[in-house]
This record gives sequence, structure tokens and C-alpha cells, in this order.
Amino acid sequence: MTQTSEENLGRIRAVLIETSHPGNIGAAARALKTMGLSRLELVAPRRRPDAESLARAAGADDLIERAGIHDDLDSALAGCRLVIGASARLRSIEWPVLDPAEATGRLLAEAAHGEVAMLFGRESSGLTNAELSRCHYLVHIPTNPEFSSLNLAAAVQVLAYELRRHALAGSVSEHIDERPDLADANDLEGLHGHLAATMRAVGFGDIEQSRSLQIRLRRLFNRARPDRTEINILRGLLSAAQGRKRPGGDNDASPAAAASTAKDTTCSND
Ligand code: SAH
Repeated sequence: MTQTSEENLGRIRAVLIETSHPGNIGAAARALKTMGLSRLELVAPRRRPDAESLARAAGADDLIERAGIHDDLDSALAGCRLVIGASARLRSIEWPVLDPAEATGRLLAEAAHGEVAMLFGRESSGLTNAELSRCHYLVHIPTNPEFSSLNLAAAVQVLAYELRRHALAGSVSEHIDERPDLADANDLEGLHGHLAATMRAVGFGDIEQSRSLQIRLRRLFNRARPDRTEINILRGLLSAAQGRKRPGGDNDASPAAAASTAKDTTCSND
């Protein structure tokens, strides 16, 4: 494997959400390490990694020791430009689903340009709708439709293996976005928070009350994959709609002015 492929694997994080069983955390660490992956992030695990985790890690202790433990998903996804969620169920909604080869091809290719994440849900109930809506795509490992749910660490293993196969083959996905300044997960959350606040302020309504509106807007921006300048233009526009002065005393909210000041402007309202 080339050094570049190895470096790209190093920018792919596995994020496990509210894992119940510490043993699964260990088994997931082992699954990752065997495939040359090294980044494990835990969001509010029900129980912290313990002796059982280490036993199941079978020598991948270093991944567990270095695993980030986060209170929320925002922190676990900080800096990620592409997020793919693993789902045991093929949902009727609304969200683009990729097969494992395609999903991992995109993750690896985009990892050449920045941090990326694959998201795994709870053993009992998978990912919530809010978590799914943070994903650009879902990935479903084709399983028996009558019995579709893999053990958490087994799902991690399958996707980690697919990533390694791509890395070994040096395969290049055709569907990648190479722009270096793509908005990351937190930039997008900032935009969605700002949109919701503006909608309320201008009397459009309360987006929290409309799941379908939330989903459509999230899908729109996940598909468009705005860069940071575009996010700042939109947020400048939202601030103007809210009647707020832009930071730095610049209250000219024309798109051109927003674009020209976008690079160094941060808007409040996250
Ligand atoms: N009972 C849960 C499944 C939990 S399995 C449910 O019905 O959603 C724990 C996690 O493993 C899932 O959230 C998912 O991230 C991953 N997983 C399990 N089976 C999978 C499959 N067939 N395809 C993709 N991910 C899967």
C-alpha cells in the first residue's frame, strides 16, 4: 500500500454513538486496527471502555486509549467534510443510500482532501433521524432483509475491510469533491441553526415543528456541499433578514459585499 493510501486511512474516523456494550467498543477497535484504520470516536458511550473492551480489542488497546470521548455528535464530527452513516435498515426516506463499495470509495478518496467520518448507531436502536440528517449518505451492508442487523463491530469490520480493499487497489472514486474549503459538519450546523432562527424571526414558521421541512433543507445542503465562503454569504443574508448588523459594523448585506467579506466574517447565532 502506498504511503498516501495509509495517510488517507488515517483521516477516516469511526464514530460510535451511545454504545451500550464496552465489549463492542473493543471489538470495533480490533476491526479498525486490523484494516489499518486508527481513529475511534465515542459519543456518550453508556459505559466507558473497560477491561472487557481491552479483552475484546485483542491488542488494539492503543485505539481505545486514544479514542475521543464526546458529549455530543458535533464534537465527534468537528472538522469532517464528508459523513456517511451506517444503517441496518433501508429506510423509505428520503436519504441517498450507497452500497459499501461505493461509500468506502468516496470516503477514502475524500480523505485525501480532509477529515471524513463513518457513523455507527446504537446496538438497540441504530441512528436517530437527527443523526441520519447529519449524513451526506447512508451506507447499507446488504443483508438478509428478514434479519438485517449486524453486530455493531461486525458492521465496522465490513466497512473497514472495504476501505482497505480500496486502499490496496489504489482505486479512485469518480464522485469526489476536491474543493479544499468545503464546509465541515459544524459549519453546516451553524447554518441550520441560523436558518431556523431566521425563519422564526421573519415569521416563516418554526422549523422544529416540521420534520419534512427540516429534512428537505438538510438534504439540500448535504447535496450542494457548500464551501465556507458560500456558507458565509448565506449567513450574511440571514443576518440581514434578521435586521442584524454584520460583525465589524458592516451592514451592507448585498451578496457582493457578503462575498467580499465572507472569508473573515463569522456570524453569531450558532
Ligand atoms: N437494531 C438496530 C441495529 C443496530 S446494529 C436497528 O434496527 O437500527 C448497530 C449499528 O451497526 C447500526 O446502527 C449500524 O450503524 C450498524 N449496522 C448493523 N447492521 C448493518 C447493516 N446491515 N448495514 C449497515 N450498517 C449496519
